This record gives sequence, structure tokens and C-alpha cells, in this order.
Amino acid sequence: MYFNNKPEITKFLDALKHIFVIMRFIIPILMFIAQTGLSQSIADCKVRFDKYLNLKGSLDDRVKFESNALYILNEKNEKEFAVYANEMPVLSEFFENSSVKEQQKLYTLKGCNKLSKKQLDSLVITMNSDSKLPRSNPSKPLQNIRIAIDPGHFSSNYEDSKVEGKYVKLVNERSRKKDTITLVEGQLTFLTAQVLRNMLEEQGAKVLMSRTQENITAFNQSYADWFKYRRNKVLDSLKQKKELDDDKYKILKQFPKEKMFWAFFRDYELMERAKKINTFYPHVSVIIHYNVDDKNSPWTTASQRNNSMCFIGGAFGAKDLAKPSNKLHFLRLLLGKQLHQSETIGRLTMNSFEKNLKITRAKQSDADYLMKHTLNTNCQGLFCRNLILTRCINSPLIYGESLYQDNAKECAMLNTSNYNDYGVKTSERVYLVAKSYYEAILNYFKDPEVKISGK
Ligand SMILES: [Zn+2]
Repeated sequence: MYFNNKPEITKFLDALKHIFVIMRFIIPILMFIAQTGLSQSIADCKVRFDKYLNLKGSLDDRVKFESNALYILNEKNEKEFAVYANEMPVLSEFFENSSVKEQQKLYTLKGCNKLSKKQLDSLVITMNSDSKLPRSNPSKPLQNIRIAIDPGHFSSNYEDSKVEGKYVKLVNERSRKKDTITLVEGQLTFLTAQVLRNMLEEQGAKVLMSRTQENITAFNQSYADWFKYRRNKVLDSLKQKKELDDDKYKILKQFPKEKMFWAFFRDYELMERAKKINTFYPHVSVIIHYNVDDKNSPWTTASQRNNSMCFIGGAFGAKDLAKPSNKLHFLRLLLGKQLHQSETIGRLTMNSFEKNLKITRAKQSDADYLMKHTLNTNCQGLFCRNLILTRCINSPLIYGESLYQDNAKECAMLNTSNYNDYGVKTSERVYLVAKSYYEAILNYFKDPEVKISGK
């Protein structure tokens, strides 16, 4: 190739520069699409919406699907935000790879406008790439994989757990002396989390625990200390930021410790857990709880029933979309692949619970809260449920309720410390629960679909 004159060279170099600039934007988009597998359509989102997100038709008036777009509607039934088919590959990635603040900015600025090619390109370059999986290591299958563990609740002793209401005190009818058994859920979850962390770290994983000591909340202090030293500061600052109106501020200021826990602290602390977990950019998150038989209230005698269940996100009610940030969480779950990935890890966890614990899987009819608040998935015992953590954590996740503590046999087995492995003295049941999550996580990262999708 040769050039007859100088202007022709300049023209050629300009064109080359132009191609280079385009490629810089196009390549990341193509890489994103390649990682997610085939990019999905509006119709795929509608299928996901119907099965996993729309609790008993409660979002029928809030989300609208057309052949080439989907819309979020405001309270007046007006279109407020649109996702057009050509925007899907970029927006589905954007909501999983950006902060709530960035998402809110996009939601407000975009509204129902169509993003130009240039705007889509610039969105791609703002996304963080922390969700990518590290290179596989055959000797340590979880090498450098980030796993967040949330040990549910925070009290490890009976006195503290009274505020949370997370204990069972049962008369054991099986014992001749009619012993009383006291189990504290926050202690069981913490012991489980410690065993699980040690198992995962042995395979090379990087683990974050949302609370790191017994009786200490996600704010790194006890609830009693938070109430004594931090409460006023927090309420004042929320009032200043207008996140708390004057009336509610005055009421909360006067609340005693227990009332304050239920009216404010419980949800406030869960939001802190989600925030901590999200800044860790986990490849997967595990939320650990132990259940009770809801038909056995007030849990003073043992139940004969025992079930395992797990939750993933989804099942939004109409009121759930009132808060602006919830619309963003909803869009992330609607457009992206996290619900599908959570269902995969949920299925693996339910299989492990069944194999290791030998307990039946819950059906929706087993508990009132399952009937009211959940949607069935493709796996028995695994339900969509819109809890603060299943909604706000930005990663594939599993929220496990492995067994009923108040079951007659179970409470006796949990009330021992007959097992000492992975540096934790606890009951064999707690160890088996930890092992179940561990096996599910190992199998999840062996899943070829997970490897391809990059998370
Ligand atoms: Zn719980």
C-alpha cells in the first residue's frame, strides 16, 4: 500500500484511530456477552418475572412487558424506566457490576430514553470487573474465590438472645428428668460459619464473615453498646440526611432497648451486613439460619416435625417496589443471571442437606410464611423469598434454614458438643450442616455453566 499525497495519509491514520477507538469499546461488550452465554431477550425476562419475581400477580400493575421493551411503572401507572431489547446485554451486566449509587444515577437520567450506542459503550467501561472468577487451580479448587458468610442473628447466649427472640427453651419429654434444653440460634449459626470458613479456606477460598465474634453485631460492637453509645448519633445523622422524618425520629429516640431492636435496629443491621458483603464482591454468599416449626408456637415443648428449606431472591410484592433502591435490586434480579445461579447453588445445597442430615424437604404448605411470601422454584424445598439479604446482596447466594431446632430428636442432638473438627467444638449436627454448605459450594464451582458465565 502506498499513498499519493499527505492528506491521504492523514485520512488513513484518522480512520485507523477511529477503528481503534471503536474496538476499545466493542471488545469489552463482546467479552461480556461471551461470558454470559447467549444474551437473553425480553421474553426470557418475562418468563423469569412470572416464575420467580411476581408474587401472586402483585407486580402486574408495576411492570409492563412489550415485544421489544420492558417498563417499570410508577404509582400512577406511568412508564418510569424502560429497558429496550438492544440494551439488554449491557444493562443486565451493568446492574450486577455497579454500585446502587451508580444504578440510581442511570435510573434517573435514562428513564424511558433509548441509550445510544455511544452511551451503551461508555456504560460498559464504568463497570467493575471484580465478579470475574480467578484462574482455576487443580490442587486447591477454591483458590482465590471470594465467599461471604453471614451467620444469622448475633446473640450467642440466652440473656442476649431474648432481645432478638431467637432462642428455644424446650422441656425434653424424652428425658426422664424432663430436662430443659435451651438453644440459641445465633450461637448455632456462628459455630456453623466458623467450621464452614475453615473448610473453605483449606481449599484456598477468601472468606468474609459479616460478624466475626460471638455476641457482636455487624457494627463490631454488641447491641447493648450500640444502643448506649451509638444510637443517638445514628438517629441524628439519618434525620439530617432526611432519611428519617421528624415524627419517626422523636418516637425512636424514646424507645427502650427491646422496642428499638424491632422498630429499627434489626433491619438497619441487616443493611449493614449487605453493605459489608457487597464491598467484598463475593463470587457467592451463604446466609446461615436455623429454623423452628412455625406450627409449634410458643416453642415450649418439642415438635415431631423437621424440614429443610432454602431461600433465594425474588417473590416481590407491590409495596416492595415503593422504595427507589428496591427497584434497582428488582431490575438486577430481573435482567441478570443471579437468580438462575442462586437456584443452581440452592439445588445443590438442598441435595446436600438431604444426603447429610436425612431430613425431608419442606413444601409450601408446611408453613404459613411459605404460603404467604414465597414462590416455588424448580427444586422442592427451595423458594424465592424477598428478604433484605436475598434482595440486597449483589451476588449469587443461598439462604439456608437447614433444620427445625425444636424437633424432639434434633434439639437433643444439637445440645451436645461431641464433635471437634476444623478447630471448632460443637455438635455433629452443626458440623454436618457446615459440610452440606461446603459440598454445595464445591459442586457449584465445578458446574460447567458457572465456569463459562464467569461468576
Ligand atoms: Zn434465623
